[in-house]
Amino acid sequence: MALTNCPSCSKRISDKAKTCSHCGFTIGTATEEDVLRQKRLQQIKKSQSFNNQSLLAMMLFIVSFAYMYWGGSRPTEIEYYVAMTCAGVGLFWYVINRVRMTIYKKFK
Ligand SMILES: [Zn+2]
Repeated sequence: MALTNCPSCSKRISDKAKTCSHCGFTIGTATEEDVLRQKRLQQIKKSQSFNNQSLLAMMLFIVSFAYMYWGGSRPTEIEYYVAMTCAGVGLFWYVINRVRMTIYKKFK
């Protein structure tokens, strides 16, 4: 049993498998066009996931920052630190996601 790459998601699968165990792609009956279409679909799904994550990270940052600023808690209170940490995580997540997005677009 040898391993080969799935034409759709490029993950390692058995060459005897009829469908990919990762994305469910049917290998035997697929035409060139099917493979291309499936690949395109995976790319769209991936960039949508990046976009959703960016949005979520941005929202976390904005909400936490707004709470920190206008929430009325003083820097000595625990809520302030929680909000500050959430804002930091949101910003960090956003930046990491942008970097991943750029790398993905470069090498796809
Ligand atoms: Zn696959």
